[in-house]
Amino acid sequence: MRLPTPVRKLIESFEKLPGIGPKTAQRLTFYLLHVPQKQLDEFAEALGTLKKNTVLCSICFNVSEKDPCPICSNQSRDKSIICVVEQPLDVLALEKTGEYKGVYHVFHGAISPLSNIGPDELHIRELLPRLKNGEVEEVILATNPNMEGEATAMYVAKLIKPLGIKVTRLAHGLPVGADLEYADEVTLSRAIEGRRKY
Ligand SMILES: [Zn+2]
Repeated sequence: MRLPTPVRKLIESFEKLPGIGPKTAQRLTFYLLHVPQKQLDEFAEALGTLKKNTVLCSICFNVSEKDPCPICSNQSRDKSIICVVEQPLDVLALEKTGEYKGVYHVFHGAISPLSNIGPDELHIRELLPRLKNGEVEEVILATNPNMEGEATAMYVAKLIKPLGIKVTRLAHGLPVGADLEYADEVTLSRAIEGRRKY
């Protein structure tokens, strides 16, 4: 049986998403056929505006509705500490702890030679101009505790070294090999408090 074109097209779109195989793509598509049109329109609207109504902050590269983002433009945040992370979701996780009062820098990935991702594919170099205004005293390397995250932390530490700025790494206690975004708030809070010189 040949599937109607709109059905086939949606299945193909779902299949392109990470973690969704052909079976799940089919199930989601046929589920949506039963959903009221109004809800589908809202879904389509949310998809359509996802990228149109968001920008990357020109300072920290976090995803935001405004540039600069609310964290960078918040006068009460401590601009002398920059916490570097791989993904916007990591910012969300660290913000939830309520422990961290500094600012961020989001790389949008990690160095991964196996996947052909080098420093130039990420927003790593944009960190350097931020460190040269004399205001920054510490950079916290909060990349994930896995191979790519460690490689990225090492690369960044090397870049910063000549500037004489203190570099710290999140304390262990974070599960090795796991992503920051999945760590619970208590573990993350402790990891920030116990950060060590890198
Ligand atoms: Zn920002």
